[in-house]
Amino acid sequence: MVRLPSFVTTTRRHDGRRLLSYVAGLLMFYAPFALFTRLWGWATGTRTAGSISDLCLRMQINWLTNPAQWGNLFGEIGLRTVGFFVILGLALLMGPLFCGWICAAGALPEYLSRLVPDRFKMDVLDKVNVTAIRYGFLAGYVITPFLAGGIGCAFCNYKTFELMVLGVTGSFTALSSTYILVTLLWLVAFGLFMKGGRGWCNFACPVGALQSLVHSIGARFGFTWKLKYFPGNCKSCHRCVAACPMRAISPVPDRGGVRINRHQCILCKDCIEVCRHDALAYGRGPAIEPAVLDRPALEPAAADA
Ligand code: SF4
Ligand code: SF4
Repeated sequence: MVRLPSFVTTTRRHDGRRLLSYVAGLLMFYAPFALFTRLWGWATGTRTAGSISDLCLRMQINWLTNPAQWGNLFGEIGLRTVGFFVILGLALLMGPLFCGWICAAGALPEYLSRLVPDRFKMDVLDKVNVTAIRYGFLAGYVITPFLAGGIGCAFCNYKTFELMVLGVTGSFTALSSTYILVTLLWLVAFGLFMKGGRGWCNFACPVGALQSLVHSIGARFGFTWKLKYFPGNCKSCHRCVAACPMRAISPVPDRGGVRINRHQCILCKDCIEVCRHDALAYGRGPAIEPAVLDRPALEPAAADA
């Protein structure tokens, strides 16, 4: 059993940059601000709701289930269609930066969870197959509209987060029981009391899962950007493991070094910040760089790409 450092924090500068980026994401996409979606509507002359619903991926799936609505998919190049391809294109080329830097609904539980001492939190690392559950949820999300006719907005942390932002900014709406259930899962059970605070992202976010799926394919090619590992520099201190909010990086027992799970990594770069030996970096090229020091035994187990 590998002992992990008990508590590792990133630099305030890095943390501040991420926080600012999430605030920008909130202002761009969530009501009552939704600056980006309003600007899009104004520039293209299309109707937008001025809310996160403008980017909802669920509608495209619902349209697919009804041949009469197939025209909606490509008939009007609306924000949903463009957003779908931009987010997935970004994930393919540069990884799920949307999750690690823009999605305020994912960031809120991560930052709140820092208020709770780690001894009170569950840790999913190596306890369950998070990747299987994540993609299983994604499959259910895609299939459900074909079987049951639709997916409720109430089971969505984006919408729940938007209602909270609206409440804080003066437009309070009482939450239905489903929204309350989502809040308890997303912010409390999977947030405050889960190590890293990103249990909802790990298990129940189809947007994140779709990006990870695309990234796991893109990361196999040298021309894309990804988290790179330099096993020859790694000292097996496991500071990166302790710092990862997605529990996407894990120790390799016996042989030392770490393994990166690209199906979970959101490219927040916290691990790069805390590594004191330049063993991790974000960039193009192979996911595993040739060892700088002579430690060839680390390489085969070094990545789960
Ligand atoms: S990658 Fe860096 S932080 Fe992680 S175990 Fe190796 S030396 Fe430590
Ligand atoms: S592996 Fe590194 S970049 Fe990926 S989610 Fe974990 S800390 Fe962030």
